Amino acid sequence: RAKNEGKNNFKFFSKEIDDESHFRHYLENALRGALSRNEFEVFYQPIVNLRTEQIVGFEALLRWHEPIYGDISPAVFIPCAERIGVILPIGEWVLREACLQQKQLRDEFGFDFIMNVNLSGRQLREFDVVHKILDIVSETGINPSSLNIELTESVLMDNSQSTINKFHALRAAGVSISIDDFGTGYSSLSYLKRFPINTIKIDRSFIMDIAHDSEDQAITLAIIALANTLKLTVVAEGVETQEQKRILRLNNCEKAQGYLFSKPLPSTALRDTIESFLQPLYDQTA
Ligand code: C2E
Ligand code: MG
Ligand code: MG
Ligand code: MG
Repeated sequence: RAKNEGKNNFKFFSKEIDDESHFRHYLENALRGALSRNEFEVFYQPIVNLRTEQIVGFEALLRWHEPIYGDISPAVFIPCAERIGVILPIGEWVLREACLQQKQLRDEFGFDFIMNVNLSGRQLREFDVVHKILDIVSETGINPSSLNIELTESVLMDNSQSTINKFHALRAAGVSISIDDFGTGYSSLSYLKRFPINTIKIDRSFIMDIAHDSEDQAITLAIIALANTLKLTVVAEGVETQEQKRILRLNNCEKAQGYLFSKPLPSTALRDTIESFLQPLYDQTA
């Protein structure tokens, strides 16, 4: 029927896929071909050291420029890509892109920025995930210690020996590991001991009201103290205001990430952004 409606084709089509399950079906099909159609792009969000206020690393964040719907949030399409399995080639592509970008920035600035890359649970469950990661590290020529793999708490709930072994293999090769969205999952502090992790990323939901909600502030400061005691790096996610930054810095939070410093950026904007962060330091010595 839609075929015969001429100009109304698109209208009919979009009304149809307004329906939740049709939308999901559309996404699944579109996702399968998105990589080969070059619809993905990796954005990079700066991570700053709160003491020096310099950019010390980036988080690679996937963007999908979908031809009909425009940009679709990774919060929507990543779970879909996991369900249908295409997260494996897509995740591998993101990792390679991010490593190539890291290498380019190192060559350009003579500084080894840390590149954080999100790994889905589906990827971690692959038996050869560690080899895949290390192959890309050596293929792109980056320093393994400049790669940080981000995993969410839900992934750590699977505390099988094979998962723990993968963590140890990554660490042995020099790659570091973050727990992402810390505090939102089924938090069991015991995995801080069981898994060889380097970094805790405090979820944005705690940082959001840190200046006005005394409970959120107490939880955040407790996580920072815990991380510092365990000699883990701690990163506050979603920092948007000067007041949040002030509280975090005052309480020895090492690093932060958020719109206050920078939104996730296309690779073409990285050079200028890094340089704009360097500027205040020059001013101080002038
Ligand atoms: P995440 O790993 O926790 O990434 C942080 C998210 O917070 C990003 O959303 C980022 O844009 C957003 N964010 C950063 N600072 C602020 C801020 O100050 N305010 C607000 N409101 N938001 C901020 P994004 O890029 O939409 O990604 C959402 C989630 O999708 C990520 O959460 C991650 O779980 C997943 N994701 C993104 N890229 C990848 C990927 O390449 N692989 C996998 N497996 N997951 C990915
Ligand atoms: Mg992340
Ligand atoms: Mg996060
Ligand atoms: Mg988050």
